[in-house]
This record gives sequence, structure tokens and C-alpha cells, in this order.
Amino acid sequence: MAGDAIDVAVIGAGPAGLAAALGARQSGAKRVVLIDREEEPGGILKQCIHNGFGLQYFGRDLTGPEYAMHFWQQIGQTDIEYWPQSMVTALSPAGGLTLFHPRQGRRELTPRALVLTTGCRERTRGNLAIPGTRPAGILTAGTAQRLVNINGYLPGRRVLVLGSGDIGLIMARRLTLEGATVLRVVEILPYAAGLSRNVVQCLHDFDIPLQLRSTATQLIGSPRLEAVVITELDTGRSETIACDLLLLAVGLIPENELARAAGTAIDPLTGGPVVDDRFATSVPGLFAGGNSLHVSDLADWVSLEGFAAGQQAARYAVGESPAPPTVAVRPGDGVRYVVPQHVRTSGESERLTLSFRVQQPIKNVTVQLWDGDRALASARHRVCVPGEMVKWEVERRLFAGREQVRVTATGEPFC
Ligand SMILES: Cc1cc2nc3c(=O)[nH]c(=O)nc-3n(C[C@H](O)[C@H](O)[C@H](O)COP(=O)(O)OP(=O)(O)OC[C@H]3O[C@@H](n4cnc5c(N)ncnc54)[C@H](O)[C@@H]3O)c2cc1C
Repeated sequence: MAGDAIDVAVIGAGPAGLAAALGARQSGAKRVVLIDREEEPGGILKQCIHNGFGLQYFGRDLTGPEYAMHFWQQIGQTDIEYWPQSMVTALSPAGGLTLFHPRQGRRELTPRALVLTTGCRERTRGNLAIPGTRPAGILTAGTAQRLVNINGYLPGRRVLVLGSGDIGLIMARRLTLEGATVLRVVEILPYAAGLSRNVVQCLHDFDIPLQLRSTATQLIGSPRLEAVVITELDTGRSETIACDLLLLAVGLIPENELARAAGTAIDPLTGGPVVDDRFATSVPGLFAGGNSLHVSDLADWVSLEGFAAGQQAARYAVGESPAPPTVAVRPGDGVRYVVPQHVRTSGESERLTLSFRVQQPIKNVTVQLWDGDRALASARHRVCVPGEMVKWEVERRLFAGREQVRVTATGEPFC
């Protein structure tokens, strides 16, 4: 088997890649290889020891490691090969990949199809450019999560969280449970960026204040952080808060270096590759899923998309997936982005799912699909917020004979 040609190689063994490998194997790919730079599979889930995973995919409330284990057990019942400690460093437009292993060295492969499930990375202090000294004690929330949950370190005792993304909210609770004092979470927007359930379960339940329309304007301390100046946007009023740890939860960026190297078109709105509803990128044979495609709020969505990307990669590998004509799908009023960006007018299923995020919190929402000024479909939602992905199943036949459609979401703004 080891010498046989690889039908599908999946790069990244997080919840998207684990599902993609299963999807590929179950859809006719004979040799499937799952590659990860780390020793253990599971991706970011390995450090997410809280619950809240799996409600959509498995109908069960699981911790991150339990969620990953469910997939890993399924993979164990197949002949999917797992290649750990293998860092993919290059992808060519022709589909060749280069990887490095600490003992086996450099290796070149040309699988019939590839799925990119490399996840995302956190925005750092360098992305924010906060004025002040360059002290120790400033970490991204995900780095702090790894230090606490995997390495067993407590990186600070008086903590300020900048940004109300989900990881920051979860870490505010986690550090509180570990005995640190989380002074407040500071958010520049007029609303929390993370899931509503995380605001309730991580902040309200632990009496951690959320300060909106405010940001960090000065870092004080050397060599260790001693204080952060927080300024209110509306009044300009500043306050100096003594702390020894600043956690940054200010957004996630898809890991798209390999996709770029392969020459795929990148959507500036998502930061990930442009795909059609097969999760096929603009490079033939290269598919993408999970947070490297667009940053999801739930691991379950990531796995559903990863599974579908793996299925389509298998169809491509065995020659069952010719490039079809597609219709462009664009974000319209009230919508920040839509994935997929192209939709086939014919396909395996009669319905397909559009995933999108709204631009601001709105209630009594009407979601609509338009061709010019003609509404093709509509749906109602009580509330939509930017932190929560909207999933909308629409009929494929609606796209037939059209060049471009757009998705809008209108309602009453609220904060
Ligand atoms: C702190 C935190 C808390 C979260 N909490 C929740 C929650 O409560 N509930 C929920 O549903 N979701 C939660 N999520 C979201 C969920 O974890 C993510 O949506 C999900 O892990 C993304 O899956 P992924 O497979 O796309 O990426 P990842 O899990 O990031 O996996 C990517 C994998 O690719 C590998 N990789 C990357 N580049 C290369 C390369 N060049 N070569 C080889 N391997 C590579 C990495 O090592 C990694 O294993 C949380 C996320 C974070 C960060």
C-alpha cells in the first residue's frame, strides 16, 4: 500500500482534516493520507478542555479532546494513514507538495487530490501596534490556553483581556477557575465579538465585566507588564489598570500560505481561498475546508465542511468531478461574506448550504437571495450577530441560468 499512488492527501488533522479524511475514504478514495506537523491529531481541540463541542455533529455535548477522539476512533477503523510530525512547507500549482519530517527528512508527493485543512492563527500584538514598552506578559488567548491546559503554567495573576472573541471569553473563565483575577474584558466594538453563549457562561456567570467601545492605548512596564491604559472611544476618558498579563483575543486569520503558494484565488473578505460548493479552489484538484477556508464559530461546522471537501476530493481523484459551470454568490446589504463564493447549477444534491456572517447585530431579520432586483428566496431569523455563522439551505435550481446572485440580511440594528 505504502508505494501506491495517493488518491487524497489531507493537510492538517484538526476537526476539519479528520472529517475530510473520513469523507474521502468513504467516497471512493483508496489511499488517503492525513498529514500533520504535530505528533497527535486533533488540532486546536487538544487544548480546548471545556465542553460545548459536538452538539450539531454528534448530538452530544463534548470537550474538545473528546470530540477529536470520536473522529480518531472512526479513523482507526479504516486504513487511512496518519503521518505525524510532517510539516508541509510548499505546494505547487501542479499539485505537488513538499513536507519535512524530523527523522525522515524531506519528501515530495503528488497526490491525485489535496484537501487543505490547516486551520487559522491568532492576530498578535504586532497586528495591533499598541504604543508603549515591549514587556513580557502579553499573550494571545490561544497561547495562554495552551500554556494553562497543556503545559500546566499560570501565565499571570491579574489579567486584562483585550477583545471579546470566543477564545478570550473562554480564557477569562479558565484563568478565573485557576485562581487568577480577571479584571475585565475590553472590546472596541459596541457588542461582544464572540458567541452569546460564551458571554453568558464565561463572563456573566463569573461576574467578569465587559467594557465595550474601549481599547488599549498604552502598555506600561519593563521587563514585565505592569499596567495597561484603557481609553473609552466615545468620551476619550482613559484609565490605567494595573495587571501582569494582557490576553489578546482580537481575531483569527486563516492559514492560507500554502493556498497562496499553490496560486489559488483568495477572498479578501474571508482571508481564505475562493471555493465552489464542492469546496474546490481555483486550482484543479485542490480543495479547502475548516478554519483555513473561513473562520467558523463552531467546530461542528468545520467538520461538516471538511467531510464534504474530502468527499469531493475523492470524486476528483477518481475522475468523477469535472469542473462544472458556476454562478457567483456575493455578499449584499448587511452581509460581511458568503461561502461558497461559487455555486454549481447541477450537483449531487438538490439543496446546498450558504454560510455567511452579518455585519452588525440585527433582530427581526429577513435573509434574501437576489438576482438583480428579483428576490429568489427568503428566510426569517429572530436575531443575527456577527459572532455566529448563519447557515442557510437553499435549492440549487434557483441558481440555474444566472450569472451572479447576492445574499442580503436586513433587520433592526441593536447592541
Ligand atoms: C481557544 C479556542 C476555543 C474554542 N472553543 C470552541 C467551542 O467551545 N466550541 C466549538 O464548537 N468550537 C470552538 N472553537 C473552534 C474550533 O476549535 C475550531 O473551529 C476548530 O478547531 C478549527 O478546526 P480546523 O481543523 O479548521 O483547524 P485546527 O483545529 O486549527 O487544525 C489545523 C491543523 O493543521 C495543522 N497544520 C497547519 N499547518 C500545517 C502544515 N503546514 N503542515 C502540517 N500540518 C499543518 C495544525 O498542526 C493543526 O493540527 C474554539 C477554538 C479555539 C481556538
